[in-house]
Amino acid sequence: MSDDIIGKKFNRLTVIEKIGSKNRHSIYKCLCECGNYTEVYRSSLTTNDIKSCGCLRDQFYKETAINAIKKYQADGTNIAYIKSTKLSKSNKSGVKGVYQKKNGKWCAQIMFKRKCYNLGTFINKEDATKARKEAEEKRDEYLREKGLL
Ligand SMILES: [Zn+2]
Repeated sequence: MSDDIIGKKFNRLTVIEKIGSKNRHSIYKCLCECGNYTEVYRSSLTTNDIKSCGCLRDQFYKETAINAIKKYQADGTNIAYIKSTKLSKSNKSGVKGVYQKKNGKWCAQIMFKRKCYNLGTFINKEDATKARKEAEEKRDEYLREKGLL
């Protein structure tokens, strides 16, 4: 009955097995195209609410942030500020733009014009750091292209 979706693919996720249920909602272990495993409610799969392990969302966040940078830089503004490696007082991770949330997960962000852009939420600090570095690299790439760096 509820195993009818095993082996099926929903967007980036292939259903591997049913692993349990919560509040009468079945939870399935899924393999994402990117290679990560994730646990998803059946309804989230069938309604297309969740389409990946989070990599699609993270990709979206990164693209949003990069687009914001491009707009910002097109205005011709403060390179010194965004290139500053100084950590804020509230930063406990030791990595700029990476914070641990109360639930233990790691959040990556990048700031422009006092606005904070989310780069995704990660279980590991390493993955959050990687997302932040990727966004920084793309930003620098763009700045070099424009001859601003
Ligand atoms: Zn993925």
